[in-house]
Amino acid sequence: MAHTLEQAIAAGADLLALSSESAKLDAQVLLLHILQKPRSYLFTWPEHALSDEQQSQFNVFIQRRLKGEPVAHITGLREFWSLSLEVNATTLIPRPDTETLVEQALEIALPATAKVLDLGTGTGAIALALGSEMPNWQITAVDRVSDAVALATRNQQRLAINNVHAKQSNWFSELHGEKFNLIVTNPPYIESSDIHLNQGDVRFEPLSALVADDCGMSDIKQIITQSRDYLSSNGYLLIEHGFEQGEAVRHFFEKMAFINIKTVKDLGNNDRVTLA
Ligand code: GLN
Repeated sequence: MAHTLEQAIAAGADLLALSSESAKLDAQVLLLHILQKPRSYLFTWPEHALSDEQQSQFNVFIQRRLKGEPVAHITGLREFWSLSLEVNATTLIPRPDTETLVEQALEIALPATAKVLDLGTGTGAIALALGSEMPNWQITAVDRVSDAVALATRNQQRLAINNVHAKQSNWFSELHGEKFNLIVTNPPYIESSDIHLNQGDVRFEPLSALVADDCGMSDIKQIITQSRDYLSSNGYLLIEHGFEQGEAVRHFFEKMAFINIKTVKDLGNNDRVTLA
């Protein structure tokens, strides 16, 4: 007998219970993706009977998830801010923590037509969230990896956020003295010895987007140092970092003669972004 939506989710969540901390949510997201239905469908039609094809596709997805593959890689999509972004294994999967950075950027008093730079844009998440909120900002989104630039460009085009332009650049290498009112970045900042790299979704993400030398500080230091040549006067640099790196980041900003340095906590009450 065919499973209903509700039964299939319960069975999927049971299977995932030992391997995922979000078993029920994972099962819901995977099945809704197969049905191409919004979340509200879970409550409006739980007795929807799955076709054989839907059930077998769901079984395949649950097996992939059991092997640890991130839900976002199975569906090829991830929600960030108010946007549904295409994701794949070439970049980091956007995290809710990074929405703290977007919120903070939107609170800065900037000129109406501010020029903004997103370094290491990956899927384009930060740049596109800012572009969707601030249609008059001119946003440049760069990544060292050409596949990431292509992914960010596809997201930009599909969402028709036309004030964001993605291009290839290794941090500032292709920016040739352009000046920005705001530079934002979620660079790699994890120490290579961090045990969390062996757990969960990160095992399926590129290390180059996660890991940095010098206790995870090397890219952050390089960006702080070089950004001085790319900020307009009274410009801001806003950086995401690890929850134990707030003090080190503030200290390095001071060393590089930045002022008005402020660290902001994420939803989990951990230091997450620093503005200067
Ligand atoms: N915050 C992410 C994690 O802990 C890492 C993001 C990054 O390195 N920029 O998985």
